[in-house]
Amino acid sequence: MRYCIVGAGFSGAVIGRALAEAGHKVLVIDERLHVAGNCHSQRDPQTGVMTHVYGPHIFHTGDERVWAYVQRFGAMRPYRHRVQAVAGGMVYSLPVNLLTINQFFRKVMGPEEARAFVATKTRPISNPANFEEQALSMIGADFYEAFFRGYTRKQWGLDPTQLPASILKRLPLRFDYDDSYFAHPHQAIPERGYTELVAAILDTPNLELRLGARFEDLTEAFAHVVYSGPIDRYFHYELGRLGYRTLDFETIRAKGDYQGTAVVNYCDEATPYTRITEHKHFAPWEKVKIEGTILYREFSRFCGKNDIPYYPIRQTNEEAMLKKYVDRAMATPGVTFVGRLGSYRYLDMDVTIGEALAAAEAMLERIATTADIPVFFAPPLQHA
Ligand code: UDP
Repeated sequence: MRYCIVGAGFSGAVIGRALAEAGHKVLVIDERLHVAGNCHSQRDPQTGVMTHVYGPHIFHTGDERVWAYVQRFGAMRPYRHRVQAVAGGMVYSLPVNLLTINQFFRKVMGPEEARAFVATKTRPISNPANFEEQALSMIGADFYEAFFRGYTRKQWGLDPTQLPASILKRLPLRFDYDDSYFAHPHQAIPERGYTELVAAILDTPNLELRLGARFEDLTEAFAHVVYSGPIDRYFHYELGRLGYRTLDFETIRAKGDYQGTAVVNYCDEATPYTRITEHKHFAPWEKVKIEGTILYREFSRFCGKNDIPYYPIRQTNEEAMLKKYVDRAMATPGVTFVGRLGSYRYLDMDVTIGEALAAAEAMLERIATTADIPVFFAPPLQHA
């Protein structure tokens, strides 16, 4: 019997390939008409720009195994992500670094002076219980108000006091002029786009890819199902719907260079969108040849029934619902839940790939010894 992998994003592609390479027959399905999930990239027919269809995706990792893995499937071009932030009518550099600190406070401080200065602005909170407390203890009220409070309210539709501290912990605070958005040693964009990269992962004997196919409509029996769709959907939402944020994009096309960089964040709450992405800057190796430009104005809102889920919200009530789904899943033989939607976690691409590689390895071991395959390899509740 074949193995069925639901979802042709990074999780499904990596696991599907590993099973197929080990000699198993695999069917990978996706209800969309393209692979790569929300990483999908496509060349805009009007401008010729490679567009990140579901918003900006920048590959970055410190995991050598993951880095070697992605490079097997296509060239990765160096790309250093930098973000500018508009706040109160000024443009600053993010994440908060020495340039941001000096410009914001109109000072000329060196690293140690700035560190001491920012310390006078922060509030000592030993165990920050939420996003706001984390921000006040890490960067202080001035930066929090200017860059994080409004943006976060727009992005999450919640007050930062209702959000976990872990969301802000994704971002560093730097006392030097390093303005790289990510700290990882490997930062890159696939030369031919994410979709080509994922298609290459899926291109292997023993693996059938079926697009435009819903798991709910399949009738054949499988040796095991690996499900990277939303865990609540697998159970027909019987215990309720887990909350997600979804994104809407307003497309702007223009000539030349519109904003001079890939991403500009708009931190003021009065500006309805969160950021503007100018896609051609993600491919510096080809942008010189491209005259036109395409941009997305990004708006965040609660994910409704027919919307595409992006960010798991994971508030307290959702944690309780998730626990019930996890219990239900643990009592369901024949299926393993993986990835961002399968485990309802905010995962970066490299973590997704790393987890998928580990899950595939563990699965193959169990298959070889005819042991039961676990329902989760990365338990959703340990990552709350
Ligand atoms: N954030 C913010 N202002 C910014 C950038 C980020 O308030 O200009 C907050 C926001 O809550 C966001 C979080 O920091 O969800 C993490 O930022 P990151 O850039 O990692 O978000 P992502 O790229 O996943 O959208």
